[in-house]
Amino acid sequence: AKRRARMSSVVFEPAMLERLREVSRLTSDLRQALDQNQFLVHYQPVVNMADGQISGLEALVRWQSPTRGLVPPAMFIPIAENSDLILALGDWVLRTATRDIAGRLDTLPADFELHVNVSARQLIQSDFIATLRHALQESGLPPGHLTLELTESVLIEQGGQTVERLRQIRNLGVKIAIDDFGTGYSSLSYLGTLPFDCLKIDKSFVDNICVSPQDTAVVAAVLHMARGFGVTAVAEGVETEDQARRLREMGCSHAQGYWFGRPVPLADIRWPGQ
Ligand code: C2E
Ligand code: CA
Ligand code: CA
Ligand code: CA
Repeated sequence: AKRRARMSSVVFEPAMLERLREVSRLTSDLRQALDQNQFLVHYQPVVNMADGQISGLEALVRWQSPTRGLVPPAMFIPIAENSDLILALGDWVLRTATRDIAGRLDTLPADFELHVNVSARQLIQSDFIATLRHALQESGLPPGHLTLELTESVLIEQGGQTVERLRQIRNLGVKIAIDDFGTGYSSLSYLGTLPFDCLKIDKSFVDNICVSPQDTAVVAAVLHMARGFGVTAVAEGVETEDQARRLREMGCSHAQGYWFGRPVPLADIRWPGQ
């Protein structure tokens, strides 16, 4: 009885009810947003530390809502992930980004990589490979120019089937990046069994690289491991010149962050020599 009393007092907390209402409003608005084409894709440069050139772009979705303004993904991706909405939205981002990039492939470097985020729910769909193949065919983007980003936690939670799915993706010629690396507590022995091409070092480690010997040691270890695995390391969330210099000194080959460029519409990307 005591327990029930405590639970009901939680359930009827006004702030919580309000939050539930807001989530359900967001969910129905999101559904409408898809039908009404209110989503946009912005692109953030991934740069090669050796020459400062753009080596790729990460596609990041935005919601231009008529009533809420420009909504950042942190506000709606988790909600979309709680329903099948993430499937339609994820598919839309994949098709839009591959089409955008295929459209200007003739002006891009030969080793250019488009990075697209994929959520757990998308990855485990039985038709995910068909969806991916379809996006590639429809856009004409050669698979070698596409990298799918999966968070470290997704790869752990999904367990055994994941490895097989990653192999299928790679068999298409598409590459795999482990996103937010260092935040998911994956065991190094498990990591060694995963097929992947790129490790993205989470911003939380990059933040303190100039002040914390511990975080610097973590980044150094991840860079060392990436070299051992023969994969590319990308430092995320680089905001200052000092961080960029430090990472370069440590032998980090690629980076991303506000210091190099914020996510912007494709037309606003400043390509070298333009
Ligand atoms: P993420 O994949 O880790 O993307 C990096 C996030 O860090 C982006 O936030 C980017 O704008 C931000 N960022 C980049 N450089 C800096 C920096 O120097 N400083 C700071 N403070 N932030 C920086 P954004 O665009 O708000 O996206 C947040 C998250 O939403 C993404 O994190 C990703 O998990 C998710 N997301 C975005 N687009 C998609 C999508 O199309 N599909 C899925 N499933 N998730 C997406
Ligand atoms: Ca990402
Ligand atoms: Ca990330
Ligand atoms: Ca993240």
